Amino acid sequence: MKKYLFSGAMIGALLIGAFPARAGSYEEDLRWSDFMARSSISRLGRMISARGDLQLRNIFNNTRFNIGPHGFANLSVSKDGSGHTVFVSAEYYLLVNYLADAALVASTRPGYQDCAMQYQLHLTRQLSQIKGSLASGGPGGRLTAPEEFSLGQRAICQDFHKYFPIEERLRNVRDKNLSSVLILGVLHEMGHIALGHQPVDYELTLRAISDDKRRMDEFLRLNTRSRQQEDEADLWATDKAIVLGATTFDIVNPTLINSFVVYTGIDCGSQPADSHTNGVARAENIINRYIYVMESVKRQPIEKVAKDFALQYVELAKKIRSSLSCR
Ligand SMILES: [Zn+2]
Repeated sequence: MKKYLFSGAMIGALLIGAFPARAGSYEEDLRWSDFMARSSISRLGRMISARGDLQLRNIFNNTRFNIGPHGFANLSVSKDGSGHTVFVSAEYYLLVNYLADAALVASTRPGYQDCAMQYQLHLTRQLSQIKGSLASGGPGGRLTAPEEFSLGQRAICQDFHKYFPIEERLRNVRDKNLSSVLILGVLHEMGHIALGHQPVDYELTLRAISDDKRRMDEFLRLNTRSRQQEDEADLWATDKAIVLGATTFDIVNPTLINSFVVYTGIDCGSQPADSHTNGVARAENIINRYIYVMESVKRQPIEKVAKDFALQYVELAKKIRSSLSCR
């Protein structure tokens, strides 16, 4: 049996050049996500051969990409004797897809903003449950689609589910958003390779320490190192996205911001316990870097409407920081 099944809709999409919505059942959605993730990475390859610098070409050509349903929604990189592999899980693409679909429906029907927000919180909890279960050797779990979530939340979501699959006119925006998020994510993983980051091995290091206080101190120290590497990879990815011709809307992408928030939240207070900087600050750092490189290094003006949108987000991130008494 072939490893990847292509539905009629996907083959149709290849022929006419437009992609349909995801199919519906979880398994179909995962196959769809797998297919879309592959298309985005091929697109990244084409962008790199057309506009990439030598470093991007070298890393891309010497990296294996392992795309497929891997059981948990994430991107990661690992190294063995024969080189680096970037893992792209179909679940990651699907998660981003669910978030984008929910946000797009809510943006065209403002009455559903609360519903989309509750859905985002639901995914945050679900991700952390799945992560916890996998970490303790338990089973993974599937993510809830927005239309499925809304059926159980009639009070705030009313007829939200009726707007899925999302309208034809929104699909182009959605697909571009998803592709930008995946490309920036893959560039982030390539950044770890370029910067020679060593993986932070929590288990091995912490297991060797018997004293509780010392183990906690070491855990916090490892997290600080991990966050520093993650932030560096984000900045590297932003710089390379600019080399590849990213637009402001690729970088100040609501779907990207929402996906960061789903992974690492908005609370800087819980940050010492986390391997990544909180989601709001990550998005803010990327946006600030983008504006800095475009305006001060490349001296290319950013279109006003896009810059206003970027600055609004930076302002919001500042407000969140001050209301949570962050640095
Ligand atoms: Zn990373």
